Amino acid sequence: MKKIVKKIVRYQCSICEKNHKTEIKAKKCESLPIEKQKFKKGLAVQSVTTRICWIHLKAMPGTISGKIIRIIGPMPPRKTYKFSRLDDRKTIHSHTMQYEVEYRCPVCNNKERACYSALELKRKK
Ligand SMILES: [Zn+2]
Ligand SMILES: [Zn+2]
Repeated sequence: MKKIVKKIVRYQCSICEKNHKTEIKAKKCESLPIEKQKFKKGLAVQSVTTRICWIHLKAMPGTISGKIIRIIGPMPPRKTYKFSRLDDRKTIHSHTMQYEVEYRCPVCNNKERACYSALELKRKK
């Protein structure tokens, strides 16, 4: 039997801490701008998109309203897709900020949390 130890080298972006396979990719990531923080923690917000209540597997009748409890980021540029259902090409080539919102589900009335990008939220009036 032969023991093989593989060395893996990764290059980490100093902005989003994403590990890249090549130095070029990491440098490219670092060169991308950071989205400006649009909302403050504790702010009351409303979502632009609707969600599904995963307990009842039912679409919510409208958008959700809640409070920003955490701001996450800067996130790796492409991760926007994971959170956002909006296809806005402007956000793809920059590090983005994510906003964790606590809201009361209009279907089951449970307190739930979800992450949104700035594009999916608006300030509640
Ligand atoms: Zn990065
Ligand atoms: Zn629910």
